[in-house]
Amino acid sequence: MPHSTFMLMDIPIDNITMDEAVQRIFDAVTSYTPQSPSSHMHFVNAHCINTAAVNGNYRQVLFRADAVFPDGAGIRKAGTMLGVPVKDNVNGTDMFPLLCSRCAESGMRIYLLGAKPGAAEQTGRWAVEHAGKEIIAGSRDGYFSPEDQKQIIEEINSSHPDILLTAMGVPRQELWLDEHRERLKVPVCMGVGGLFDFYSGTIPRAPRWMRRMGIEWVWRLMMEPGRMWRRYIIGNVVFLMHIKKIQRNMRKEGRKQP
Ligand code: UDP
Repeated sequence: MPHSTFMLMDIPIDNITMDEAVQRIFDAVTSYTPQSPSSHMHFVNAHCINTAAVNGNYRQVLFRADAVFPDGAGIRKAGTMLGVPVKDNVNGTDMFPLLCSRCAESGMRIYLLGAKPGAAEQTGRWAVEHAGKEIIAGSRDGYFSPEDQKQIIEEINSSHPDILLTAMGVPRQELWLDEHRERLKVPVCMGVGGLFDFYSGTIPRAPRWMRRMGIEWVWRLMMEPGRMWRRYIIGNVVFLMHIKKIQRNMRKEGRKQP
């Protein structure tokens, strides 16, 4: 069944549920051939929209992506303000266990690239334990020099993963995947931000009640105030201003979201 998209900052966001998003990923893996290009699927939250507002390359990458998933309470709020009920909070951290289970069922494997040394390996161990099967094609940290890139891409390709998760922060991870799109022979590539920090236990994840209320950002702010205050205290206000502006322009032009 066709699904709808809505536009934020010229980025078409897929208004789909978590289950539909996972299905989309596995459909892309199944239909991949070595001749076809990789599918790039990314998550977009309020911080991503603020980043896209000032980074044209990142905006372009999201515009060209094969799927953009609505991540977090900010996007839901934006949808409400623009007259689009957002179906679900499709974020990488909640999706990861589902991906691992589906990989185990279908014999597919994931490569983990990113975060500080040790975190990707530890995340891989979590994934194998959760899935009860060897579903990790390989892993390495996200701190490398440009000279190492060729060898890293060869290492990824020769391990033949079905899904590549890059956890190097927004927008670095999306830009990196886009830059190497032609060379990476992986069916589905996705940017997942701080995911390995959570699953390796480096940073504790917000309690379930906070996640359910859509205020995981408050927890992240508490965990890393020095790094996160700008993103959340200032960022949330900037995000609301962006959405208000989109709302005003839509009213002026008598436009509606599809
Ligand atoms: N990171 C990395 N390489 C870099 C810079 C950052 O692998 O050159 C990692 C960092 O260790 C962390 C993740 O990228 O695990 C960024 O996490 P953050 O929560 O900031 O992600 P975002 O919310 O920006 O997507």
